[in-house]
Amino acid sequence: MVHLCRLTGFKVTIMANRKQQIETIAVHGAHQNSSYSSDIIQPIHLSTTFERKADGSLNDHVYTRISNPNRLSVENKIAALEEAVSAIAFSSGLAAVNALFENILEPGSHIILPDDCYHGTRLLMDKFFKRWHVSFDSTDMTVIDNIEKLIKPNTKLIWMETPSNPQLKIADIKAVVALAAKHNITTACDNTFATPILQKPLKMGVDYVMHSSTKFFSGHSDILGGVVCTNHTNETANNIREYQATAGAVPSPFDCWLLNRSLATFPMRLAAQCKNAVTIAAFLEQHNNIEKVFYPGLKTHPNHAVAKQQMTNGFGSIISILVKGGLQQTLDVAGRLSIFKHATSLGGVESLVEHRRSAEGKHPVSPENLLRISIGIENVEDLIEDFKIALD
Ligand SMILES: *Cc1c(COP(=O)(O)O)cnc(C)c1O
Repeated sequence: MVHLCRLTGFKVTIMANRKQQIETIAVHGAHQNSSYSSDIIQPIHLSTTFERKADGSLNDHVYTRISNPNRLSVENKIAALEEAVSAIAFSSGLAAVNALFENILEPGSHIILPDDCYHGTRLLMDKFFKRWHVSFDSTDMTVIDNIEKLIKPNTKLIWMETPSNPQLKIADIKAVVALAAKHNITTACDNTFATPILQKPLKMGVDYVMHSSTKFFSGHSDILGGVVCTNHTNETANNIREYQATAGAVPSPFDCWLLNRSLATFPMRLAAQCKNAVTIAAFLEQHNNIEKVFYPGLKTHPNHAVAKQQMTNGFGSIISILVKGGLQQTLDVAGRLSIFKHATSLGGVESLVEHRRSAEGKHPVSPENLLRISIGIENVEDLIEDFKIALD
C-alpha cells in the first residue's frame, strides 16, 4: 500500500533564501538523475515491472500501472507548478474527471455543474453517473445565488470550470469556496484554461484541481493526459491515488516523458500565447463582422473584474467570438482561415478554430454563430491578417 498513497517527493530548492520560480520549476522540477548513467534528461522507463530487493522487499517501483519513474517525475513537476501536495496523473483529462467523480460521489449524491461546461464532463454525469443514481444541476456560476439555490442535503460536490468552455465565463472561486464551506460541500475546479501560471485554485481553498494536460501542459497537440492536484492527505485523496493504480487509466511512460519535456517550455509558450491573444481579442472586438468577443481580458467582459482579481499573469489564450450572421456565415469564416486550422482541442503552439456547436453532439448548447479560437505562438500580425481575410 505504501506505493498507492505516496505523496510527491519533489522539494522546491531554496537557494540563498530565494524560492525557485515557475520557469525554473518547469525545467528542473522533475530532475531525477539516475546514479548509474548520470543522464541530464531522464530516459523513458518502458519496463512494466521492477526487480525486488534480495530480501524480497520492494524497490521504489513495482509495476508500471501502480507507479513508473517517468510518471512520478511528471507528477512531481506538476505538483510543484500547482504548489500542491500531490498530483495524480491519468491517461486523459476525462479520466481525471472520472476519478474525482468516482471518489467524491456515491449513489444518491447530487452535484452542481456550470451551465457552460466542458461537454465531456457533462456527458459523464448525464449518461454514465445517472446509472448510479447521481443527479446534477447546472447553472450560470457567475452569479453565486444561482448556486446556493441549487444546494440540496445530498449535494456532495460543486464543480467549477473557470474560465469556462467555450464562453469564457468566470466564476468567483473564493466566493464559491465560501458558499461550499458553509454547506460542507467539496469543491473542484477544472483549471485547464487558466493553468497554474494564471490561476491557483488550491490557494483559494478549492479541494481538488483537475487539468486536461492534453492542452496547455502538452502544448503540442500530441499527447492525451489528465491530472488531479490536491493538498489533502485524507481518505478521498488516498482513494484517488489508489483508483489511479486500480482502475488503471494511467498515461504511458512515453506520454509522461513527452509531457515532462513539454512542460519545460510551458511558461514561455503560455506567455507568448497570452500576449498574442490580447492583441487578437482587441482586433476582433473592433471588427464590423463580429457580433461579440468573449475574452476575460477585455474590459467589456462581464466578469473582467473578478478575472483580474483571481487570474495573475494574463487571461489565457482562448477567445470565443460570435460572427455576424448565421450558421453558414460562421462556418464560412472558419473555412476561409488558413493559418488557423479548423479542428477541436486547444492550448497548442498552433492556432486552431472550432465551431463548437458542430462538436457538441446530440445536445448542442453553443450559439450557432460561435467560434472558439485557441491562439498559438505564431507571429501575431500573420494571425490577424488571416482573420482579416476570413472576415472581409
Ligand atoms: C479537453 C478538456 C477536457 C477533457 O480532457 P481530455 O484530455 O480531452 O480528456 C476537460 N476540460 C476542459 C476544459 C478541456 O478543455
